[in-house]
Amino acid sequence: MIAIDYVTAFIIYLFAWLITLAILWAREIWRLKNYDWTLSSKERLCHCDNCHFAFLIKHGENITRCPRCNEMCIMRKRRGL
Ligand SMILES: [Zn+2]
Repeated sequence: MIAIDYVTAFIIYLFAWLITLAILWAREIWRLKNYDWTLSSKERLCHCDNCHFAFLIKHGENITRCPRCNEMCIMRKRRGL
């Protein structure tokens, strides 16, 4: 049997945990890269304040009517878009 002292055993334990965390981190980065999705169309998502229905509107429109309840919906401009 291989005789190891406590310091060596602790260092081996610590490295095993670091390797496990590095593998899980790399797996998470790989998963986010493969399963990440973005809205690539030019339409924007509008949310009706009256009936909470979400629908797509064209890029240049700021005011539209909700297809469900026919309420006027104003698309507010957000910073950074
Ligand atoms: Zn609505």
